[in-house]
Amino acid sequence: MQNRFGTPCLGVLAIAFSLSMNGCASSSSSNASRAGPTRIGTSLNAWDDDKPRKASLERDGLAVEGRHVVAWFPREFATKADSARSSSTPKPPLTDADRRAIVDRLDRGIAEAKRFIGKPDWSFRGDPRLYFYFPDANFISHAPGGNTAFIPLWRIRDDQAPWLHEAMHLLMKVDGDWLSQPDGVAEARMPLWLHEGLAEAISMEVDARTGMKHYSPLIDVPADQLDAFAAEHVRECPDPQRLLTYVGGRGKLPELFGEDRMKYAAAFYAASTSLARYLARQDGGYQHLLAAIASFDHETETYERLSGQSLDVLKQHWATEIGLNAATSIVRPSK
Ligand SMILES: [Zn+2]
Repeated sequence: MQNRFGTPCLGVLAIAFSLSMNGCASSSSSNASRAGPTRIGTSLNAWDDDKPRKASLERDGLAVEGRHVVAWFPREFATKADSARSSSTPKPPLTDADRRAIVDRLDRGIAEAKRFIGKPDWSFRGDPRLYFYFPDANFISHAPGGNTAFIPLWRIRDDQAPWLHEAMHLLMKVDGDWLSQPDGVAEARMPLWLHEGLAEAISMEVDARTGMKHYSPLIDVPADQLDAFAAEHVRECPDPQRLLTYVGGRGKLPELFGEDRMKYAAAFYAASTSLARYLARQDGGYQHLLAAIASFDHETETYERLSGQSLDVLKQHWATEIGLNAATSIVRPSK
């Protein structure tokens, strides 16, 4: 059974709970055979809601292809989810030009992202493209493995989507896969901070290089204000020391997935991103962090071997630099 929160994402925390509006309202005639197998993404750890939404788009929607992207849109843009989000007047349907503009934007960002992480020839099962599904529904943006990401249509349409962050999760994925582990194993051992902090930090770098707008549901500040934002939110969360044991450590902070998650979410994501950026500055780039995230279940050891330094010590330097109490220790559950 897929854990709903198995794919931790910025978007997870941006919406308190999924509004669960199943319903692509597209319904015009098309057929799956027109799409063809090469335009269907593979979702290795799909959430329960992903499957019907994906099937609906592939059956009734429109696929627009780029060099690095295949994007599935509803054929008709229904206003149900959009109206639920705000009381504003429903928007007109997306045009072909609108859809093409979105795909061109994604194409440009993903090409640069592949270059940035040193994987210009990235592919999944021989296919170099990422598959974005844009259901007309309210849910949490996520990338459940393989080559697929799910983003609410209104978010991509309004340019308020963490699409590059989700793309980074897919592009950085390697052989080992935390998402396919039993929940208890990932909760105890997955270095969530590294996955989220690195995805966000690199998204910020790529957006800076391409000149594209960077969007994060939680960290809505320019890059040069991130550290101060992180420090402020860590101080304000209910238990800063507890939170900081997970930033730079193993495991998933349970509070992120419970009733109190909105009290911890901005602090955790901002601090994780801030730490990743700090380490990259010390290292002169992201190569050590990328090697670490590629070392499934040996992330910290790999980072420390490459950098020649204790991550715990580096973390305390980082905390001091951004003005936090550094009396923290890394969580290292025994195997
Ligand atoms: Zn994420």
